[in-house]
Amino acid sequence: MTEKTVRTRIAPSPTGDPHVGTAYIALFNYVFAKKHGGQFLLRIEDTDQTRSRSDSELAIMESLNWLGLSWDEGPDKGGPYGPYRQSERQSIYKEQAEILLEKGEAYRCFCTPEILAADREAELKSGSRRTGYNRRCRNIDAQTSAKRAADGEPFTIRLKMAVDGDSVFTDRLRGEIRRPNEELDDQVLLKSDGFPTYHLANVVDDHLMKITHVIRAEEWIPSTPKHVRLYEAFGWEKPEFIHMPLLRNPDKNKSKISKRKNPVSLKFYKETGILPEALVNFLGLMGFSFGNDVEKFTVEQMIEVFSFDNVSLGGPVFDLEKLTWLNGLYIRDLGPEELLDRVMGLYLNREYFQKIVPLVHERMRYLSDFIDSAPFFYNGDLDYSAEGNLMVPKGRTQVEMASMFEEGAEKIDALESFSASLVEEIFRTISEQKEWKIKEIFMPVRIACLGRKASPPLFECIEVIGRERIRRRLRKAAEYVRTMKMPA
Ligand code: GLU
Repeated sequence: MTEKTVRTRIAPSPTGDPHVGTAYIALFNYVFAKKHGGQFLLRIEDTDQTRSRSDSELAIMESLNWLGLSWDEGPDKGGPYGPYRQSERQSIYKEQAEILLEKGEAYRCFCTPEILAADREAELKSGSRRTGYNRRCRNIDAQTSAKRAADGEPFTIRLKMAVDGDSVFTDRLRGEIRRPNEELDDQVLLKSDGFPTYHLANVVDDHLMKITHVIRAEEWIPSTPKHVRLYEAFGWEKPEFIHMPLLRNPDKNKSKISKRKNPVSLKFYKETGILPEALVNFLGLMGFSFGNDVEKFTVEQMIEVFSFDNVSLGGPVFDLEKLTWLNGLYIRDLGPEELLDRVMGLYLNREYFQKIVPLVHERMRYLSDFIDSAPFFYNGDLDYSAEGNLMVPKGRTQVEMASMFEEGAEKIDALESFSASLVEEIFRTISEQKEWKIKEIFMPVRIACLGRKASPPLFECIEVIGRERIRRRLRKAAEYVRTMKMPA
């Protein structure tokens, strides 16, 4: 038998900023495929129409390209098994769900949300431990089911899970994973609006796109028994499953990486001047050991030595200090011309300066004031040691100010788009709600975001600096005021 060509994929849902976790998983998929002379695909999982955004899809592609993790097939490149965007594959999922219906592996469920809610409540009252659907529609005979559908009654299509015994699958890194079937729900495959759920679309696509290895984050382990059951129901060969350990915050409990503790958007790393080769190297270190304590390696070198035997499950810690150290090594490797190009590419260029000129113009006495009048446009994190005290106005506590900064960061995070007026509105609203004077908010925010009390117009500066760095500065400022020593 000839060996199958290795095919892997990254399948992000375009619902927000491009996430470091996506790059991390993409890297391992990329390296594994290249190691075996195979292909790496990009598939956009945008079946959640309410949450998917096309700008997010674009940002994911830009970030992966920036990191050099280019795909062989994808929505922008096409390929033999396209389309590679799930929203363009609706009819395929419907067709496949109907095949399962015909085979008796799935059934129509006519339960309305009200029935489901009432059933759940009754179950809870009765003290039952079941958490899922009570399978009320599982035994409706085929004829009645077809008639009710033909009469226009709305329905979902659910997968028939096994009732007894265990579901078992093998994970390349963890061995056998077992789950009692009684814990597994009859998963909805197709919703009443005809849209597929993640599980159906994901499995159908992995099969049709000839994916041989599903390399994804640990958090998908609970879904895998359902996927395995789907492969069986279709009568398809299963891919190999490899669930990578989740990235962790560098805190005491090593919690799952989260934006409260660590910037998670790839844009942040790009905008603070992390080199893509350093970030890829750093992500490669997460869980994988190159051997001989080597920590600095290129993707090509990683491809050469890669094996899942050298991936360990101890939660890899996303430690910014380590990334910064590694970035320094890469910066020192650059020749002077290359370094100059990179620096100019980031902030020292006409396009960026054009945004700054109107803001600093009024305040300049010498041409040479340009950079010094507003260094915060170019910095990553700021140093609060000089004016940090001004982040806690008289009569306010450190804790109050820290939570105000955090609230601001969270609201900024939730903005659809980022602009001076929207950010200003956020802080005005906070001041109204708290019944604080506007200056009790604006001055601390100015210090937090710009690092100094005298500056060009605050919110215009914030807009130029951009969401990623501002959000980070607000969180850093919160940390700073929480722990700083106020003068007596
Ligand atoms: N759309 C899922 C995600 O956002 C894909 C998970 C998988 O790789 O199966 O990560």
